[in-house]
Amino acid sequence: MQITRNVNPSGRGRAEWFTGDVYTDVVASQVGDWRMRAALVRFTPGARTAWHTHPRGQTIWIMEGVGLCQREGGPIEVLRQGDRVFFEPDENHWHGAAPDRFMTHLAMHEADETGSVADWGRHVTDEEYSQPPVER
Ligand code: MN
Repeated sequence: MQITRNVNPSGRGRAEWFTGDVYTDVVASQVGDWRMRAALVRFTPGARTAWHTHPRGQTIWIMEGVGLCQREGGPIEVLRQGDRVFFEPDENHWHGAAPDRFMTHLAMHEADETGSVADWGRHVTDEEYSQPPVER
């Protein structure tokens, strides 16, 4: 049994992986054969990930606010509290907050044999981000 106390400050999302201000807290880290990692990610308005893929896929669960996500070749989709999204392994995508709203999600993903959970690409441009989203 391993208890990890809530003593670490929230991390700042790395500038090469995110646009805007993003704060992260570890929920589950890799230990031994346990490969699932999870993070609480708080996006300020307009903040979003860069384009990226996950070797084993990823589920995000929207906890608060209004978010956006997009897979390569698809429209931008609106996300609200309680929505969840599964990104297929190696599906290129991004996720983040709406332009005028905060968004917090729980992100869950499994590491591959090399310990990688994500492969990062270029930033989402303002032009890409400002395309009108669909809501269904
Ligand atoms: Mn992702």
